[in-house]
Amino acid sequence: MLYDDFYVKSLIQTIEDWPKEGISFRDITPIFTDPKGMRMVVDAYVHRYMSEDISHIACIDARGFLIAAVLAYELQKPLILIRKKGKLPGKTVSQKYALEYGEAELEIQEGAVQSGDRVLLFDDLIATGGTLFAAIKLLTEQGASIKEVAAIIDLPDLGGSEKLRETGIPVFSLCAYDGE
Ligand code: AMP
Repeated sequence: MLYDDFYVKSLIQTIEDWPKEGISFRDITPIFTDPKGMRMVVDAYVHRYMSEDISHIACIDARGFLIAAVLAYELQKPLILIRKKGKLPGKTVSQKYALEYGEAELEIQEGAVQSGDRVLLFDDLIATGGTLFAAIKLLTEQGASIKEVAAIIDLPDLGGSEKLRETGIPVFSLCAYDGE
């Protein structure tokens, strides 16, 4: 299905002052309750990455899982979960990071990726980039390289996507919102 920017943006809801004052929370969950919107979003990524030399798709807890899982199924790629601390069993590696609102820690299982892997890293939204930088560290420390970072939404005013590009990592988002 052809991607319609206006249609997808009409599904994304903005909740002001949540989870704390001054934050405009961009809620993508209505995309999942709209089969047409879900298909448009998934298809946009399928078309972008179907001929790319990607070995794995990695995604970030929890909203990042939802699209990335369908994408991995469609592109027939292994899916790597990067989860919030304490969720993954077995031996893990963790990385602390600062959020637009607070602090958090991400984990990956030891051996989830290895040297030579070319990873597409997916999350729902790029704000300051702290989450993605932590995920990138977890992946690259195990030897993988990052082919591209993909998100549904970019908040360019918060500088995350620019910082990622400055490190040489390509960044792709379906839409962008000004402000926080
Ligand atoms: P950051 O690490 O600052 O780039 O923040 C990105 C992560 O926090 C993503 O996993 C988002 O789910 C979440 N997030 C940060 N800011 C927002 C926002 N304004 N609306 C929705 N989610 C956000």
